[in-house]
Amino acid sequence: MRKLERDKVPAPTSLDAPSVAVSSEKAAAAVYYGARIPWQKTHVSYKFSQYKGNDVKGALRLLSGGNCAYCESKIFGNGSREVEHYRPKGGVDGALHPGYWWLAHDWNNLLPTCRDCNKSLKQHIVSPSMSLAEVESLMSTTPKHLYGKAMKFSIRGTRAVGHTCLLQLEDPLLINPCEQDPKGELRWNFSTDLPLIEPTVGPNGASIYGKYTIETCALNRAALVLDRVSTLKILKYRRDLIIDRMNKWNGSLEMLEVIVKDVESLTHHADLSQPFSAMAAAYIEEFENHLEQWRKAQGLPPF
Ligand SMILES: [Zn+2]
Repeated sequence: MRKLERDKVPAPTSLDAPSVAVSSEKAAAAVYYGARIPWQKTHVSYKFSQYKGNDVKGALRLLSGGNCAYCESKIFGNGSREVEHYRPKGGVDGALHPGYWWLAHDWNNLLPTCRDCNKSLKQHIVSPSMSLAEVESLMSTTPKHLYGKAMKFSIRGTRAVGHTCLLQLEDPLLINPCEQDPKGELRWNFSTDLPLIEPTVGPNGASIYGKYTIETCALNRAALVLDRVSTLKILKYRRDLIIDRMNKWNGSLEMLEVIVKDVESLTHHADLSQPFSAMAAAYIEEFENHLEQWRKAQGLPPF
């Protein structure tokens, strides 16, 4: 998960203007929920459909570079994309709450996600002690436990129950990549062949935001970890190639230019458009320390 810059993407017109269809649905939902106060267990949520027009999907693609906002898998090319409501519109797990229905068409509440992060699905989760072979073997067995965000949205503050409530009084445990830099809450473990994501650890222990987000979106699910392994292999290959060239460098300017271009090529993996760019950025950051030491030892100016 990486920081996403919503203010760099124009709000989609169908929501921002809003269109007649969106206005009508908002009005109908307000009447629907207005007739169901207080909310009861037997009530069912309103069926929204007007929040995911093509302009919304296009804007979400720009927001995340075509990747899932939670796990950073590529989603726009394989049809697995979902228009996710960060604050769930149809109910909240563990609470007698209608869901954040008044935010159903709010651009600031929408994120592009993959199906596996967004839906409640049975998944295998990778633990740090597992080997690559064990994970591959696990994939041919049937998972038993449900993971995925669905209507999970735990908070520490005061729950908003209507449009007059202040969302700022909530303290959501799920990281919103548009509002909170995930880098402060999540870190990467590259100590094995399996790149796992972990909560950062501070003086008060592991980040509760990191822990909740990893568990809720199943960010160490087996299929996802195996996809990350493929990206990590490319990163390792490119890094090893650069190290080899550095070790063989004989002072030639031509060779130095090749090394600099190789480094640029490696850093391209941390671009927004790339899948797993936060993992790549963390991996490159580790390598950059090594690169910087080498540059200084050779008496070279900054790249
Ligand atoms: Zn995802």
